[in-house]
Amino acid sequence: MTVLDADVAQKTTEKTAYVIAPQPIPALPVRGERGLFPVHRIYCVGRNYAEHAIEMGHDPNREPPFFFQKNPDNLLLTGEFPYPAMTKDVHYELEMVVALGRGGKDIPVESALDCVYGYGVGLDMTRRDLQGEMKKLGRPWEIGKAFEHSAPCSELVPASAIGHPSQGLVWLDVNGERRQTGDINQMIWKVPEMISYLSGLFELRPGDLIMSGTPAGVGAIKPGDVMTGGVAGVGELRVAVV
Ligand code: MN
Repeated sequence: MTVLDADVAQKTTEKTAYVIAPQPIPALPVRGERGLFPVHRIYCVGRNYAEHAIEMGHDPNREPPFFFQKNPDNLLLTGEFPYPAMTKDVHYELEMVVALGRGGKDIPVESALDCVYGYGVGLDMTRRDLQGEMKKLGRPWEIGKAFEHSAPCSELVPASAIGHPSQGLVWLDVNGERRQTGDINQMIWKVPEMISYLSGLFELRPGDLIMSGTPAGVGAIKPGDVMTGGVAGVGELRVAVV
């Protein structure tokens, strides 16, 4: 056996055979649990409340839902959102977060809620100016949507504790002033429909999150602002812009 062979043999038997150290697995705390919820992917649904579709200049009719993704490591749990680079127009979008404990392909609407582990409250922070430029050019949205810290999120609450909320206030205040108000019963695509539709496009996995869309009232924030928001029956979130 040459020195090289011995080296390869040793590497393949070692458990941690990475050439560089792997990054930590992004994870969310869970109310009432010691263990964390490990996050696999973050899917976001666009224009899922009619009033928000109208404010963004789109037809509120029930077209097929569309999705984009954020990166799992865009999650922010510290409550401090650093104002991002290369933008002058950062918007909040308060959304109910759906956390999947089970996945699959072609999941029927009728059994889709069986995949849900729990729910949370998240912010789909958006560099609206960059998103707008990309829209105009027909380019992907990543630079507007999937940047560091762009997904502040609350702890999750298990569906075993709160059930599957289908109505209830969704709201956001900036510096104590109400900016976004809606009800999750106004979602154009309901949670089971979203899961079913997504599972036809992608193989869903345990650990996937779905940000379910935002009600009307999106707007800009600046450093020093404090965003507080929530979904009735699920939880609340407080994030300072630093
Ligand atoms: Mn959104």
